[in-house]
Amino acid sequence: MNQIENNLKVIHGRIGEAAHKAGRNAREIQLVAVTKKHSADTIRYAWDAGQRVFGESRVQEAIAKIPILPSAVEWQFIGHLQTNKIRKALPHFSLFHGVNNSEVARQMDRIASETGAFPRVLLEVNVAAEASKFGFTAEGVRTDLEELLALPRLQIAGLMTIAPYCEDAEKARPFFAALRHLRDDLEKRGGVPLPELSMGMSGDFEPAIAEGATIVRIGSAIFGERI
Ligand SMILES: *Cc1c(COP(=O)(O)O)cnc(C)c1O
Repeated sequence: MNQIENNLKVIHGRIGEAAHKAGRNAREIQLVAVTKKHSADTIRYAWDAGQRVFGESRVQEAIAKIPILPSAVEWQFIGHLQTNKIRKALPHFSLFHGVNNSEVARQMDRIASETGAFPRVLLEVNVAAEASKFGFTAEGVRTDLEELLALPRLQIAGLMTIAPYCEDAEKARPFFAALRHLRDDLEKRGGVPLPELSMGMSGDFEPAIAEGATIVRIGSAIFGERI
């Protein structure tokens, strides 16, 4: 067994255990293998080991790799989409995790109406209000929700966050809980289901699962450190 196959097995085991502890079914949790800065050859090892969903954070880099990998790969965009890259990115990704302000959402909606797309998106929330991070503030997303839901082409499927880096992953848990509470609140206000919670990375996916993550985005624990 190669290293990537082995790592995937370990991660699936840990997801299963975290789900079990939380009284959840592991099948409710989608693993997105984050392949930014990794070659198509490396990605193929994961594909061969059965991984089907991959996350990329740069449009240019993703578009170079996508055509040389199996067409059945499901690609998700986990980065910050610059408005000048939206048109290029739209056809390639099944889900956009990083819609981090209303301007990006409006632009996506406008371009999607021209190209005929109905992009599925997650709203990125900076739950810890860190100055270094992108994303809506919790207040901002409450304020803008009505306008966002009215954008006819965007299918808003839920929320995404990147928790502050903590040596002890358990310390990230309140931020994941905060995202879930915010989601519950927005569902009530908006009267719409927002089923997806994209939260948890290599260092903190277990507490994220404990708090309801439906999508975990894991890179280095599968592919090793990025150079
Ligand atoms: C790089 C990245 C990840 C994966 O991070 P790891 O710590 O390598 O698992 C997850 N989410 C986003 C948004 C990323 O940019």
